Amino acid sequence: MGKPRVAIFDFACCEGCQLQIVNLEEEILDLTGAFDVVEWREAMSEQSDEYDIAIVEGSITRPEDEERVKNIRRRAKILIALGACATIGGINKLKNNFELGEVKEYVYGKDSEKPHLDTAKTKAVGEVVKVDYKVHGCPIDRDEFTYILRCILLGKEPEIPEWPVCVECKAKGNVCVWEYGQVCLGPITRAGCGARCPSSGFRCYGCRGYIDNPNVEAAKEVIEKYNLDIKDLKAKMKLFGSGYEPTKK
Ligand code: SF4
Ligand code: SF4
Ligand code: SF4
Repeated sequence: MGKPRVAIFDFACCEGCQLQIVNLEEEILDLTGAFDVVEWREAMSEQSDEYDIAIVEGSITRPEDEERVKNIRRRAKILIALGACATIGGINKLKNNFELGEVKEYVYGKDSEKPHLDTAKTKAVGEVVKVDYKVHGCPIDRDEFTYILRCILLGKEPEIPEWPVCVECKAKGNVCVWEYGQVCLGPITRAGCGARCPSSGFRCYGCRGYIDNPNVEAAKEVIEKYNLDIKDLKAKMKLFGSGYEPTKK
């Protein structure tokens, strides 16, 4: 059997997650040894409609995007959502907090009614088609990306943390940034980044999405301890979690 054929596609995004793949440098040679990359607009001019694995970066923000991603899904045996724009809608979902016409006019001014500037509510890839694997983060973590690809090659299920960033942060012995008045989303955000932001003195912005079973009560207790309001937390959650409502616990 030949090497699995991989195609990489982008939708609404900054393409920073693809750049992380480009930045793999010599490790990318290992990957191209294991996979046949048949389409990747950012790095090559060839195109193909025949692939086994589709890697999809970006959010779905227009009706034609939905058709395109459905076509990609039909052709691929495996679909990987790459980065926060694809896995959770990312910062593109900020748009959903406003009336669409208002957003278009703000961005495009007098051109906003031109047909090629059509827009719709932002969706994560998984809200339109089935996603098999998610590479979380804004941008993705390169090591996690190659780990997931290796698991796919070996037929293993990747182990993605289902616990909060606080666990990694505490393990590193960081002083909690709540102590400095920052509203950190670590208690409800999926770990796996090594608590990158709190380890540098910044709050967690929630770029890896929220864990499936966030301990909302504990988060409320932290908020009360620091004399803040749940509205402060919700305001911070808008950047990567617009439209998100915890459904469990
Ligand atoms: S997840 Fe972040 S880095 Fe990746 S494409 Fe979206 S905005 Fe860019
Ligand atoms: S800084 Fe953030 S991630 Fe670290 S322990 Fe405090 S709340 Fe949790
Ligand atoms: S600490 Fe939070 S915002 Fe920073 S990389 Fe990790 S999940 Fe993303």
